[in-house]
Amino acid sequence: MLLVLKFGGTSVGSAQRIKDLVKLTVSEVPKIVVLSAMSGTTNNLVEICDALYSKNSEKASELINSLKQKYLKEIAELYSIESSKTKAQELIANHFNHLHSFTLDMFTVNEEKAVLAQGELLSTAMFHYYLEEIGVASALLPALNFMRLDANDEPDMVYIEKQLTEELKKHPGQKLFITQGYICRNSFGEIDNLKRGGSDYTASIIGAAIKSPEVQIWTDIDGMHNNDPRIVSKTHPIHELSFDEAAELAYFGAKILHPTCILPAKKRNIPVRLKNTMQPEAAGTLIANIETKEGVKAVAAKDGITAITIKSDRMLLAHGFLRAVFEIFERYKTPIDMICTSEVAVSLTIDTDKNLDHIVKELKEISQVEIDKDQTIICVVGQIPKDKAGYGHQVLESLKEIPLRMVSYGGSSNNISVLVNGSLKKEALQALNKGLFNY
Ligand code: ADP
Ligand code: ASP
Ligand code: MG
Repeated sequence: MLLVLKFGGTSVGSAQRIKDLVKLTVSEVPKIVVLSAMSGTTNNLVEICDALYSKNSEKASELINSLKQKYLKEIAELYSIESSKTKAQELIANHFNHLHSFTLDMFTVNEEKAVLAQGELLSTAMFHYYLEEIGVASALLPALNFMRLDANDEPDMVYIEKQLTEELKKHPGQKLFITQGYICRNSFGEIDNLKRGGSDYTASIIGAAIKSPEVQIWTDIDGMHNNDPRIVSKTHPIHELSFDEAAELAYFGAKILHPTCILPAKKRNIPVRLKNTMQPEAAGTLIANIETKEGVKAVAAKDGITAITIKSDRMLLAHGFLRAVFEIFERYKTPIDMICTSEVAVSLTIDTDKNLDHIVKELKEISQVEIDKDQTIICVVGQIPKDKAGYGHQVLESLKEIPLRMVSYGGSSNNISVLVNGSLKKEALQALNKGLFNY
């Protein structure tokens, strides 16, 4: 039985932080440690890709060199033995030569994915070498050998289970495994990733694949808080959340968790614990199949939302109208987040404008269409029983000064959502912090 422990960017953000990981990972308890890239690295790699896309190879080379300097500095601090220093220098040289090779060639999406993969490949190898230096046995599991998406970009669980088992079998008696978060292959076998913040998702997919007793997400805060600590000044950690509550919070913007990372754990009923690397003694948050207390637990906000209003005289009593609308979104693989209907119109929201033009063109064939971009969904999450009065009132009362574009209540007993103009997000989160949590 292997535990899964994931450490995010800040938890591996410097040579010292990597050294500090030993206390949290080296024990008799068998485990798989999933690492993100050092903090800032994936952003740097994105900048390198942007330069390469705009054919500015000089700028790309500069960015690659400056990132390389950062890594050379980190490894000088991380290792004390000459042989590990040499090994780490070779590692850095290989990865950065590889990055430089992209400045010479055509740059496409496939190359971009290969560039973005370098951060996790580096951090895991660096930790593995460090453990080697201090005499701790560990095995590096290459995520690209087992983590794969299917043709719908969903984790291919059958393949992952089989391949991961094979990889683990290669190291009989081993208790400490290290692997890369975020990176994977697509259904064509090409390098891909699980989208930004995807290392959390890697951890829960692995947890589900090996039926781990627990998945731990170690980060820079003591668990899921009741509100976004980057935006409001006072927040508190929540000790327990049900899978559904946590999934709503993650999907609707609580950055501490990747939007879909709760789902694999929920499917296999594997508890997920959020812990603070800088304060390991803090309780953190347990996310499990538990009945949590009635009441509002937290609020989260999801930006970059587009609201689409579809008006049609024919909608009145016209069965089949909504089906026609949904089919258009389905054709463009665009999920709908919120939906509100009236007799003559339906408003719905999407979080990607990738296919907006096509969608609007098709919608216009059956209705009039209005678009509002840069909206934010504010999501209030907890156990909100449908037969109890007061919750809707409390939310709307808290937000009474803020124009609400849409309101969604009753979709589930875990969620009340409102849509506001993106410029009002901070105000809305502050108002809810005051109205719901008395801050
Ligand atoms: P990591 O690099 O470890 O994956 P992230 O930056 O992705 O860490 O997630 C942790 C950050 O999420 C916290 O530092 C915090 O600022 C932010 N965050 C946003 N909303 C919440 C919330 N509701 N509870 C806790 N943290 C949150
Ligand atoms: N390194 C990736 C990112 O910055 C994945 C992760 O950290 O979860 O998005
Ligand atoms: Mg993260």
